[in-house]
Amino acid sequence: MNLLQKLFGPRLDPNSYAAPSPDAHVTPDPTRCVQCGVCGFNCPVGIPVRDYACRGRIVDDIRCVQCGKCVEVCPRGTLRWTRPAARLEGPDPLEAETLLAEFFGERV
Ligand code: SF4
Ligand code: SF4
Repeated sequence: MNLLQKLFGPRLDPNSYAAPSPDAHVTPDPTRCVQCGVCGFNCPVGIPVRDYACRGRIVDDIRCVQCGKCVEVCPRGTLRWTRPAARLEGPDPLEAETLLAEFFGERV
């Protein structure tokens, strides 16, 4: 995962839909969901992702193996990953500074 993906999430890289961290959850934007069911159809453990998506609920089913398949196949870009800390507090400024320093090769 490169710097931009660490800072802004995996959706910047169309080739990477895997979870950014173990505590991440698939999170829908219900205004984009057309209830086609492609997400749940492709879920390897049978989670009814559409039911979560159309209600705007985080996919917190314990069976989720964080494969990212539902995020990848959604034709509407409805699904993305979020982390609990980011949902509550926003990005960690210290982590962001460290990542920027790595990217530019010096402290910023
Ligand atoms: S694939 Fe996307 S648009 Fe279709 S039901 Fe799932 S979240 Fe909604
Ligand atoms: S990330 Fe994988 S296991 Fe989790 S809900 Fe999506 S398709 Fe199912």
